Amino acid sequence: MRTRVAPSPTGGPHVGTAYVALVNYCFAKQQGGDFLLRIEDTDQARSTPESEHAILAALRWTGLSWDEGPDVGGPHGPYRQSERSEIYRRYAEQLLLQGDAFRCFCTPERLEAMRAAQRAAGIPQKYDGHCVAVPAGESAERAAAGESYVVRMKIPETGVCVVNDLARGPVPYEYATVDMQVLLKSDGLPTYHLANVVDDHLMEITHVIRGEEWMPSAPKHLLLYGYFGWEPPVLMHLPLLRNPDKSKLSKRKNPTGILFYQRMGYLPEALLNFLGLLLAPAPEGREIFGVDDLTRRLDLVKISLGGPVFDTVKLDWLNGQYLRALTAGELVARTLAWGFDRERVDRIAELARSRVARLSDVVPSTAYLFAGRVEVTKDSFAGTKLPPEQIRKALALAMWRLDAEHTFDMATVERVLKGVGETLGVKFRDLSRVFYVAMTGSATALPLFDSMELLGRDICRERFRFALDAVGGVTNKEQKEWQAIPFSYDYAAVPT
Ligand code: GLU
Repeated sequence: MRTRVAPSPTGGPHVGTAYVALVNYCFAKQQGGDFLLRIEDTDQARSTPESEHAILAALRWTGLSWDEGPDVGGPHGPYRQSERSEIYRRYAEQLLLQGDAFRCFCTPERLEAMRAAQRAAGIPQKYDGHCVAVPAGESAERAAAGESYVVRMKIPETGVCVVNDLARGPVPYEYATVDMQVLLKSDGLPTYHLANVVDDHLMEITHVIRGEEWMPSAPKHLLLYGYFGWEPPVLMHLPLLRNPDKSKLSKRKNPTGILFYQRMGYLPEALLNFLGLLLAPAPEGREIFGVDDLTRRLDLVKISLGGPVFDTVKLDWLNGQYLRALTAGELVARTLAWGFDRERVDRIAELARSRVARLSDVVPSTAYLFAGRVEVTKDSFAGTKLPPEQIRKALALAMWRLDAEHTFDMATVERVLKGVGETLGVKFRDLSRVFYVAMTGSATALPLFDSMELLGRDICRERFRFALDAVGGVTNKEQKEWQAIPFSYDYAAVPT
């Protein structure tokens, strides 16, 4: 029995990843098997080492551990797909030779015209098979002559693929609806689909348990297993986590980052317990349980397919139970470990040093750096010189644009926030008061950019979201318009 979690390092660590990791971990351990971690970084443009680092750190923080992975090694490595390109190329070559895949020489312009025609005709967009007919000899010659191509998999023209999902039973997919998926891109690197199937096979994964957003990929994967003559793993697709209103969990409505819950001061054991409740409802009155208990009780077939609700009220309650079960000494130790490491405290002291008149000022003037959300209302912004519409726009632009940055250090924060000033054509002196209020709860505090770096991306995002809600939020129309504003930043153009 071997399971895995296979995150793509294209953003911050998501609670959904912890949820998937938890099921896979418990299921493998229940059967005395192994649980692996694989990094799926085939999307070179979006994958970053920072993201990989954060995902590993966040998963480790939850307390889960893996038997094999990029950080711990193992007999089936490397466990990072970017280090396995040669392997995928070999398997793509095999499919070409077998005639189960073909080279596609279509130019981006042709593909765009094809899609436009499909859109206009109101038919689903998929590759029209133009290059399937290129004879093998000609295909090889064109490739040898240096013409650019991708490798696509062949899909039967008719018939049905039945995906046997462990929890859903048989789910039929008409081949006619399945796209001739690109397996190898023109730069010779694989797509997720090829790499995922090859790796699950070579890493001897027996059970693939993943989010239901991958369900439509299953027919392609099953076909690939068939082409290679490999036995496919058992598949199970987990229902997506949902907001309380049942919409898909998204950071617009709820914080979704594991690091947010860490910085807010949730205990990892409470978070896992909470996720566990979504997987295996507790026997009456026994809602507090650890991973070992969940491992014993988890029954994959019984996982409810109705969307599990990420109910932060419940999480708060659970976390409170865990905190209250600590002795005073344990509470001190956990609190210090959580937010008072020496380096952080020293940095805060350095900022506060010149602004305190009494030692009794130190705690109040730095409290916002240890808090979760800060209380702000519409009135909190009364002292700023900006009209309400500009305040909403400033908060929204700052939040979105910081989200789009790979790093969240002082320099990035400064560049982005000043860029918002440039976009709005307002003096940064006036604008910064808005940001001070949203980030610190007060119009004056320790330096803004340092404060934001110390608070970290996840807490800042939540404070922006909270402040934005307090001043009336953003309509869908505004969101569309404001997100379309180009983000250019030119220091010299900022009015000071
Ligand atoms: N890399 C995919 C993800 O980020 C993994 C999908 C799978 O488990 O097959 O979710």
